[in-house]
Amino acid sequence: MQRSEFEYYCPRCGNLHFLKDETNKKCSVCGHEMLETPHEYNLSRTFWDELSELGWRENEHLFDEKEQRLFDEIISKSPEFDIDLYNNKDSIKEQKYQEFLELLESPIGKVKCPYCHSTNTTKISIGDRYIGTVNFAAFGKQWHCNGCGSDF
Ligand SMILES: [Zn+2]
Ligand SMILES: [Zn+2]
Repeated sequence: MQRSEFEYYCPRCGNLHFLKDETNKKCSVCGHEMLETPHEYNLSRTFWDELSELGWRENEHLFDEKEQRLFDEIISKSPEFDIDLYNNKDSIKEQKYQEFLELLESPIGKVKCPYCHSTNTTKISIGDRYIGTVNFAAFGKQWHCNGCGSDF
């Protein structure tokens, strides 16, 4: 049986996501495990596609209403629910998305840890973009090594 995509929700921050991959259900905003939306809310990808075909602009409110009902009846009543995270989730999402874009544009995988020579490094601050061979010290600590944990 082919499994359709259902929307998942984060009981802590209210983030919503279509997920197919059962192995990765962590909320992209707060890291809490996401839960499958009860099927009676019918927030499946199929429903989303139906709306797109009918005309997204005219029918968007149908989806919004279901989401609102999900929020009122399920998410806001979750014991994990955190109203501050909920109110900030869009800006957190936006910020993470920007960081993600920066990582895509940066020479990730080419920046080697000077201590253990791992290429598993993450940019830790937003400074002037640079490539490769400049002196790290001149720019302060910009990278974090996920291998040995040092900043450089
Ligand atoms: Zn969350
Ligand atoms: Zn290292």
